[in-house]
Amino acid sequence: MKEPTKQLSDIGDVTPETFREQLHQIADWIADYRENMESLRVSPNAPPGSIRAALPVEAPETGESFEKIMADVDRVIIPGMTHWGHPMFLGYFGWTTTAPGILAEILSAPLNVNAMTWRTSPVATELETVVVDWLRRWLQLSDKFGGVVFDTASVGVVHALAVAREEAATSVRKMGIAGRTDIPRFCIYTSDQAHSSAEKAAIALGFGEDNVRRIPSDSEFRMDVAALDKAIRKDLRQNFRPLAVIATVGTTSTASVDPVAEIAKVCREHKVWLHVDGAYGAGFAILPEYKWITVGWEEADSIVANPHKTLFVPLDFSVLYVRDLERLRRVFTLVPEYLRGDTVAAEKNYMDYGIQLGRRFRALKAWIIWRSFGRQGIAARLQENVRLAELFASWVKADSRFELSAPVVMPVVCFRLRNSDDEANARIVETINASGKSYLTHTKLHGRTVMRLGLGNILTKEEHVRRIWDLLRGF
Ligand code: PLP
Repeated sequence: MKEPTKQLSDIGDVTPETFREQLHQIADWIADYRENMESLRVSPNAPPGSIRAALPVEAPETGESFEKIMADVDRVIIPGMTHWGHPMFLGYFGWTTTAPGILAEILSAPLNVNAMTWRTSPVATELETVVVDWLRRWLQLSDKFGGVVFDTASVGVVHALAVAREEAATSVRKMGIAGRTDIPRFCIYTSDQAHSSAEKAAIALGFGEDNVRRIPSDSEFRMDVAALDKAIRKDLRQNFRPLAVIATVGTTSTASVDPVAEIAKVCREHKVWLHVDGAYGAGFAILPEYKWITVGWEEADSIVANPHKTLFVPLDFSVLYVRDLERLRRVFTLVPEYLRGDTVAAEKNYMDYGIQLGRRFRALKAWIIWRSFGRQGIAARLQENVRLAELFASWVKADSRFELSAPVVMPVVCFRLRNSDDEANARIVETINASGKSYLTHTKLHGRTVMRLGLGNILTKEEHVRRIWDLLRGF
């Protein structure tokens, strides 16, 4: 039998009246969620697979109602979440959910443009340039640096190292690396505290993860520069080609800051690319008392900062700055015929600066959140996080059962139960997380397991920090 012809109402969008109603419901839902979040478990404790088991195997054959879908959001999605915006979420670096950030994400949704070229949405391109420049000024980088927004720092470093490779071994872009005898064995150097995105980049670019040299760090978890210099010299003697050093400003475990200026000297001497991984820490440059972390940045070839970690922009928003952005464009520009019409007479086509063609209008959310708080508002919130971290650290220091495991440089505190083994420390974190009352992470520092508190969430107040301390003292 022939299918009946679909009515326009069956195949078009929902009616404007219904849409308006649903938007109001969603607005209330969001406000309720944010207001009542504290009453929720921070994270679930159900076994893996239980969420999937509660959902149908097949996608629905016919459309389902908004009410039914929202009921399942409450029934399955919310209880299955780790609520990163929860005031007791104290894992990683805390998180960047804010009311203006949520509004900005909502506003981005109906626009849903593709910012691949200037012409495909002029404002998405020009606003990106504006916010990248605002951030550059906040980071006190000179205008020799140009930036581009990526999703993550991991993607940023791949792009930076691709440029380094092109400059060290010309025509890789054109001829590739396979089968070429003129391509040296490249090495990347970073500290034993640096993020694993270094190895991921080496994997993606064909350097090989074994060719990432992990340089030892000192007692405060900063790269040992003498050891770096020694490692480079050793590789040169063995016919490797030192390509790049990744210095970290705000390491993943302890938020330590590598001595960038000294590292830059070594890089200059050996003609090696310097990438500064400020994914977490660079945002603190907005505070006058953290000006010291920016020393040496001007000498870098590239710097990455993640405002989605530190500067209240919702995930994802990472900026890669390259000294002379044209170097990045030279490696990645490629205009197929079907896009050519949209690339002429353009201010800038951001598709030229990376492997991505389709690009979200990410600049809008940064523009909204940074205008909503202003530099002073952001600074005050970061300063409060630093104060809370120092307060927590003072409690740890004053309690003979605990000890600090690293200096508190940014709002990250590493600590451990004294006179206890690694397992006992890891078990405390597991037990707290399983209770749903809070969320912490653990890490290993110079071979020992330690607990870790990360403060960044603007809903986290002193009372919450006291609460986690009470929980910890109960062990
Ligand atoms: N670099 C550092 C120092 C980090 O701490 C992290 C993540 O925590 C990254 C890079 C990777 O960030 P992304 O998730 O944006 O790739």
